[in-house]
Amino acid sequence: MSTDEFNNQVIDAMSLPGDDEEIQGWIATTFGRLGAGAPIEEPKEGTCPICSRTGQIAKRRRNTSYANDENNWQVSCEGCFEEDYARFQDLWDEYYGSRL
Ligand SMILES: [Zn+2]
Repeated sequence: MSTDEFNNQVIDAMSLPGDDEEIQGWIATTFGRLGAGAPIEEPKEGTCPICSRTGQIAKRRRNTSYANDENNWQVSCEGCFEEDYARFQDLWDEYYGSRL
């Protein structure tokens, strides 16, 4: 699939009727990872629950597509988020690579 085709699919999905919870959930889990990295609140100085280092802690959207949307969020420092992001980006590259 080309990038344009993929983007058009995203746009199609986003314009589906908005009040169906199942569809909304599907959009969130299927395309939510495209918005990965955006913190839902201002990062705060604190201790990272993953690496125990002190830093700017925020809840960020992961580039994952878990059916349970709660799993698509990570509370951590930026370093841990970037590690998580890179790990899943590799998996996605593999996933899409294997379908070409
Ligand atoms: Zn950390």
